[in-house]
Amino acid sequence: MQDLSLDRLGDEIAELSAHLAAGTAHLLDLIREFDARDGWNGGFRSCAGWLSWRVGLDPGAAREKVRVARALGTLPLLAQALARGELSYSKVRALTRVATPETEDQLLTFGRTGTAAHVERLVRGWRRVDRIAEARETARKHKSRALHVYQDEDGMVILRGRLEPEVGALLVQALAAARETLYQQRRAAEAASCPGDVSEETPSMAQQQADALALLAETALHHGVDPGAPGARYQVVVHVDAPALADPDQPGQSVLEDGAHVSAETSRRLACDASRVVMRHDRDGRVVEVDARTRTIPPAIRRALHHRDHGCRFPGCGVRFGQGHHIRHWANGGPTTLSNLALLCRRHHRAVHEDGYQLDRQPDGALRFHRPDGRLLPDVPPPPEVPDDPVNVLRARHEAEGLHLHARTTTPSWLGERLDVGWAIDVMHPLAR
Ligand SMILES: [Zn+2]
Ligand SMILES: [Zn+2]
Repeated sequence: MQDLSLDRLGDEIAELSAHLAAGTAHLLDLIREFDARDGWNGGFRSCAGWLSWRVGLDPGAAREKVRVARALGTLPLLAQALARGELSYSKVRALTRVATPETEDQLLTFGRTGTAAHVERLVRGWRRVDRIAEARETARKHKSRALHVYQDEDGMVILRGRLEPEVGALLVQALAAARETLYQQRRAAEAASCPGDVSEETPSMAQQQADALALLAETALHHGVDPGAPGARYQVVVHVDAPALADPDQPGQSVLEDGAHVSAETSRRLACDASRVVMRHDRDGRVVEVDARTRTIPPAIRRALHHRDHGCRFPGCGVRFGQGHHIRHWANGGPTTLSNLALLCRRHHRAVHEDGYQLDRQPDGALRFHRPDGRLLPDVPPPPEVPDDPVNVLRARHEAEGLHLHARTTTPSWLGERLDVGWAIDVMHPLAR
């Protein structure tokens, strides 16, 4: 290496960079496919979370890789330019922040001509134009919100409206919840009637939506149109039979306060780290005794747990806030001690209770996770096998694919003229005027 002239050394750097760009394009293709096929969706929060765990990228870089990989799925020209080593990953990364299938062609030309610094400046200016256009669009949408309620000739009430996306999502969610309640009521009523009865015809989706809206209106008026504190809104009360809590295979009821049934495993998760009010029922279901409310995990132990675990202990997760999971459930006699607790985020607490992931503590105190199929899920994955000379393997593969990369492949055609970003955006951006 030492006897290389500086020119040769520079060329070597440029040529290898082109190979790495082409290799990155291939890598992004693989990530896109892995993401699209939900390869990460076995216990990981996201494709980036999996990538960070498996490859050792920092979380920010992992998220960016996944973002670029997804974007390139709809931007074939930029994807090809990266695969041919003509555009650096830095340039492609910047351009994918703003490029659309309509503007991709022009942005690619700009990326080939300009330096990475030019591209950064262009993208910054472009996003400013995007943001202004977006703010205008949001304001326009907000202004156009409307709900018309009127009667037609036969007295039926007609609704027609335009809601902002988040308000619409709220409505859709509320309707779904109300439909579910009505469905449960209907099922309970059917079960109560004689089995020989001809049950009523199931209402159509549109009819169910109408019933759900009526229930929402009724409920809102009943509660004085009070959105409530967020805590109270999401509080869940579970009535569960003691045998069902101790053993999910035992028959026994697990019923939410509003009457909806949840699986025994779900009630075990909700009870794992909760305030508990124990109500004892007699044979006829009447409450005979109510204990004072107790936290399953006392504050001192919870603080120690947070201090010890820092965040979710699921491999590759580390989310800061979590719930205390009893490795051996308290309903089965598991003690509320540090050695029987592990901090898990909401998602991974669910993975352990409902999705079949298993967790145990080794004699040396280390936690061990297993996938639902029994395979070990290590904290750090085993390193991949790398050939002795990975660079030449990469070169050979590109040669075999007919890709001839050299020291000038990534060089922009810029000749030193001044860049007028404002003019460039005016020419290329579809909303610039
Ligand atoms: Zn738990
Ligand atoms: Zn987690």
